[in-house]
Amino acid sequence: MADIIQLLPDHVANQIAAGEVVQRPASVVKELLENAIDARASLIKLVVKDGGRTLIQVIDNGTGMSHTDARLGFERHATSKIKSADDLFHIVTKGFRGEALASIAAIAHVEMHTREAGAELGTALRIEGGKVMSHEFSASPEGTSISVKHLFFNIPARRNFLKSQQVELRHITDEFHRVALAHPDIDFHFYHNTSELFHLPAASLKKRIIGIFGSKTNEKLVPVQEETAVVNLSGFVCKPQYAKKSRGEQFFFVNNRFIKSPYLHHAVVSAFEGLLKADAHPGYFLFLEVDPVSIDINIHPTKTEIKFDDEHTVYAILRSAVKHSLGQFNITPVLDFEQDQNLETPYAFKNKSGVPPGIQVDTGFNPFKQAAKGRATGLGADKGRSGDWEGLYVGLESRMSDSSQFSSVAFESEANTRLPLENLEETQDAQLAGFQLRKKYIITSIKSGMLIIHQNRAHQRILYEKFLKTVTLKETVSQQLLFPLVLSFNKSELGIIDDIQDQLQLFGFVFEEIGKEQLKISGIPFLVPENEVGIVLDQLIAEAQTHGDQLKTSPLDMLSRALAKTLAVKSGNTLNQAAQQALVNDLFACREPKLCPFNKPAYTIIEDNEIDKKFS
Ligand code: ADP
Ligand code: MG
Repeated sequence: MADIIQLLPDHVANQIAAGEVVQRPASVVKELLENAIDARASLIKLVVKDGGRTLIQVIDNGTGMSHTDARLGFERHATSKIKSADDLFHIVTKGFRGEALASIAAIAHVEMHTREAGAELGTALRIEGGKVMSHEFSASPEGTSISVKHLFFNIPARRNFLKSQQVELRHITDEFHRVALAHPDIDFHFYHNTSELFHLPAASLKKRIIGIFGSKTNEKLVPVQEETAVVNLSGFVCKPQYAKKSRGEQFFFVNNRFIKSPYLHHAVVSAFEGLLKADAHPGYFLFLEVDPVSIDINIHPTKTEIKFDDEHTVYAILRSAVKHSLGQFNITPVLDFEQDQNLETPYAFKNKSGVPPGIQVDTGFNPFKQAAKGRATGLGADKGRSGDWEGLYVGLESRMSDSSQFSSVAFESEANTRLPLENLEETQDAQLAGFQLRKKYIITSIKSGMLIIHQNRAHQRILYEKFLKTVTLKETVSQQLLFPLVLSFNKSELGIIDDIQDQLQLFGFVFEEIGKEQLKISGIPFLVPENEVGIVLDQLIAEAQTHGDQLKTSPLDMLSRALAKTLAVKSGNTLNQAAQQALVNDLFACREPKLCPFNKPAYTIIEDNEIDKKFS
């Protein structure tokens, strides 16, 4: 039989390797930025068009390349950064594999201009799909500029797989943040299409963090500093009261390289033990300096994983240093662990002095306007203040007629899914013969047995359908604020708000951007309490960030879910009889009472015979 094995031609091998290194435009950004840093640049400009589809360009004032090196740099395994296998254990540069330029050039059109300091002439080089189209001397400025166009032009599957401009831009921005945080001493510019998204002058780490995440970050940061023989630790953690629902601002850098480490993450989280609310994630920007010999960064081609020789010691040091900082900066005593959750004030108001009672005028009130009814049904205005609950349910009758109207208008055909309600032993106008178990469940008897309702999930379901109905029927009711709120957001948050601006308006938010990083909010959705607007918006942004794709396909659904999740009564809140009854009624007026909007059961029924069985 004839021999059938062949060596793959270089350009095919490169294209295959490229699949590993270049997953999306953000990977190109990362590689080019890192090369500029390795070239000791003090000024780096990143220019991106259309989320990286049209152009990714990085311009630096670093060392530049000689005429020959410029060409050689695009060969696979061509690197100036290591010479032998031994060097792998002493890596101080970002790159060392010599794969990035070859990979990028294999799947895009690349143009490079470079000149070494002091050299008379520079080089211009053009490569398309791995083929050198031109390589000539030119009058390039000192440093290097590489532009990457038509990414994935020869891999249609990859190109078609690219997400929307916003999603790709978000990935690029994430990479940019990581690199910019690791190098506060470098001046960075980042342009997207025609606007400058970031200009970060060389500064301290703290200023860099603020430059990226906005001026409101200043008050959140607590410094962490610890020097030991094994590791030098520095950076900041965010005060626990600013912990977010999303894992947005969590950064580890080892020898100035961004890494992900669930193990070290655990060390930080455990230092926050007892200080965080359930499902809140602490923010941190932590820099570990270790002897390069004691780590192995050679595990993963995209290099965000790392192996320490002595992981356990690093863990222990990290945990105790963070704990120490939280204690030292007097953060621990402020929080009272035994506090009754019902008395808990939202964080945003914790440190503000009380407001004297005043007469509230509802300027938007119009007794002839149908939609105004909706305001009285503000199930969501609770947030653990039982007093409010009672107030809310004074008009129980009108609320009930409202809920039935709600179900019959919006979901007429689904009326027969309301079975368990018909089953309720008590009629609607009688008192609910039920009770609250562990401030989490509402328990009542029905004809066939025992009904157990998960109060948080049930309320999420109610609010979710309410929001969906409002936005789909365009019945938005917005509360006009007598005194508009001014809230600060950082650039990426503003970017997201921009993306979902139309939807937010449908929900009843009325706002405009004023000045830098600030929004003036003059109207809010009817179920959102005024003092929680900031928290609600933060939460919406966090959800939009984590569910970027859903945002594209079904933004209203995603935002309705997120709002419901934020506003729903939580486990741990006491509900009085009226509130319990309203919850039961409203739940079974829903189209899908069985499940919360996140597809978990909202109630369960234990049948009589199951109970009987237990006693047999
Ligand atoms: P690596 O960074 O792993 O060495 P790359 O493919 O990213 O591999 O780059 C190959 C080589 O090209 C580098 O080792 C470096 O010598 C050179 N190079 C790449 N980008 C630049 C730049 N912006 N300035 C100077 N030299 C560069
Ligand atoms: Mg590189």
